[in-house]
Amino acid sequence: MLRIEHLTKVFPGGVVAVDDLSVIVADGEFLVIIGLSGSGKSTLLRCVNRLVEPTSGKIFLDDVEVTRLSPARLRETRKEIGMIFQQFNLVRRSSVLTNVLTGRLGTVSSWQSAVGRFPLQDYHRAYANLERVGIVEKAYQRADTLSGGQQQRVAIARALMQEPKLMLADEPVASLDPATSHSVMKYLEEINRQDGITVLCNLHFLSLARRYATRVIALKAGRIVFDGLPRDIDRDRFREIYGEEAVEVEIA
Ligand code: ADP
Ligand code: MG
Repeated sequence: MLRIEHLTKVFPGGVVAVDDLSVIVADGEFLVIIGLSGSGKSTLLRCVNRLVEPTSGKIFLDDVEVTRLSPARLRETRKEIGMIFQQFNLVRRSSVLTNVLTGRLGTVSSWQSAVGRFPLQDYHRAYANLERVGIVEKAYQRADTLSGGQQQRVAIARALMQEPKLMLADEPVASLDPATSHSVMKYLEEINRQDGITVLCNLHFLSLARRYATRVIALKAGRIVFDGLPRDIDRDRFREIYGEEAVEVEIA
């Protein structure tokens, strides 16, 4: 279980990106976070693994208070939290397999010294995870020769190497066309349903939220303005979250 209590992030300069936000996410949920650009979605996600240091508030992953971990303990806890990004963040010139193997390691600096020295069982696991996302035949290709959708699937396979209990996905399909978006989202859905990995996923489009979320929260200026089932976001709710001008585009 993930528990966020009174989380606030104020960036230098005074922007309040997350504003006294509290939420409890149960194990196994597929929580989609929606909201306009700048509403605080990325900051919220990044506070969970402390890529962004919260200004105040507490975050608990099970019984561990993430917000008060020492650097060493934080490295351990981060292994339980996978993350994927809009821009995939693969090492472009490395092979798909190498990219996936690096998921076993905490940091890029530690993998650079370790390349070629992974235990055999890590290779087995890497192939299995590539199989999982349907691209094991690309294992020896350079990452940057793959399409965007394929690269994001590599990123999912890499995150799975950590055997995370929580997966953070920051607009994972924002760079992809609609058909390809589903080819990525369905794997997030699969790891959620089959492996019981809790997913927190920022999405721009409500249509995707409706299709994949078990629960949606909407942010506006760093605060939660909706928390519930995707089907309960009607036209009025939508207008509240996204503003007047967006309504026709999305509902249509
Ligand atoms: P979203 O992901 O919903 O687009 P963000 O979390 O990226 O929103 O941003 C929330 C607010 O915080 C925005 O006003 C943004 O400009 C600001 N912000 C985000 N990151 C930084 C940063 N590193 N420094 C200063 N302001 C930031
Ligand atoms: Mg963002």
